[in-house]
Amino acid sequence: MPRPIEAIIHQPALAHNLAVARRHAPDAKVWAVIKANAYGHGIENAFDGVRSADGLAMIDLDEAQRVRALGWRGPVLLLEGCFEQRDLELCSRLKLWHAVHCEEQVDWLAMHKTHEPHRVFLKLNSGMNRLGFSPQAFRAAWARLNALPQVDEISLMTHFSDADSERLGADGIAHQLAAFQAVAGDLPGERSLANSAATLRHTARVGGDWVRCGIMSYGGVPDFPEHDAAYWDLKPAMTLRSKIIGTQDLQAGDTVGYGSSFTAQGPKRIGIVACGYADGYPRHVPHGSPILVDGVRTTTVGRVSMDMLAVDLDALPNAGFGSEVTLWGNGPHGSVLPIDEVARAAGTIGYELMCALARRVPVSVEHLS
Ligand SMILES: *Cc1c(COP(=O)(O)O)cnc(C)c1O
Repeated sequence: MPRPIEAIIHQPALAHNLAVARRHAPDAKVWAVIKANAYGHGIENAFDGVRSADGLAMIDLDEAQRVRALGWRGPVLLLEGCFEQRDLELCSRLKLWHAVHCEEQVDWLAMHKTHEPHRVFLKLNSGMNRLGFSPQAFRAAWARLNALPQVDEISLMTHFSDADSERLGADGIAHQLAAFQAVAGDLPGERSLANSAATLRHTARVGGDWVRCGIMSYGGVPDFPEHDAAYWDLKPAMTLRSKIIGTQDLQAGDTVGYGSSFTAQGPKRIGIVACGYADGYPRHVPHGSPILVDGVRTTTVGRVSMDMLAVDLDALPNAGFGSEVTLWGNGPHGSVLPIDEVARAAGTIGYELMCALARRVPVSVEHLS
């Protein structure tokens, strides 16, 4: 018997969530962002679920190669572009579209020998100050690209820092939207501005020809806890589940786990779950964090260790050895534990938990019917 832990990737949920993106941005094409191995879901596992997107966007070139190997002939966008000049050869060969965010990338294109002119997404730094040309340099970069025979189409992109919230007490996107319009408003070409948060909260204002949907495709909520998955009609694309492999009956004064951080005040029954931080479950989840046993909400007890954690069974007299435990995602009888809730308890975001699913966890796929 392998350890009872497993992850399940729900392709129907991926397709559903992309349909939600389309509802919010009916006039735009949708990039499913599948960087970081499809946010930890596995590109090959997620693939059939994201085929309904208009394009697939990622960071790593090997991920672009993998989707071409899976038979994807549609648009592929490298969100950070090339990392060295010879990456352009792969772009030519596999017809990859790529971001251009700095002068070096323009220099490489100018030196690139190809019969296949490239489509590029010229990136403006509208205020996030991560990648992109400054507003002062943007139009010169556009003109340089426009003069290159290696380039046949220039699209325009930028990225919001605060589409999920406010910024410095004011609207989160207004300043960046204004910066984009001021610098690029009159330039031709398709636009891609919105990530998941902007797609859900701001599409009417942001517009654009392409939205870039990462977290929402996987059922994660970019503006949790202001809104939750039910509010946005998003479904979990990943379930992490395991089983209870032992139980303990505590008496007053007994402690649980490393550091004895939890002390029982009276009699208490706990279950020991085959899941720990070496599976990707966050060690920083504090005592009392949400978890499902047999589809019923209960709480974690004490500290998470490498291979195990404890759960409170006081309210679950019928639960015990072999009971199903849902760490996040879909539980039995229609129950759901949103990954956002676990992430919040651990002081992080759903993105990080998905991406950190450990290699040792066996993964199965719920296929699109
Ligand atoms: C990761 C990424 C996205 C997707 O962001 P989500 O918040 O997951 O929707 C969009 N655009 C760029 C440039 C990214 O790097």
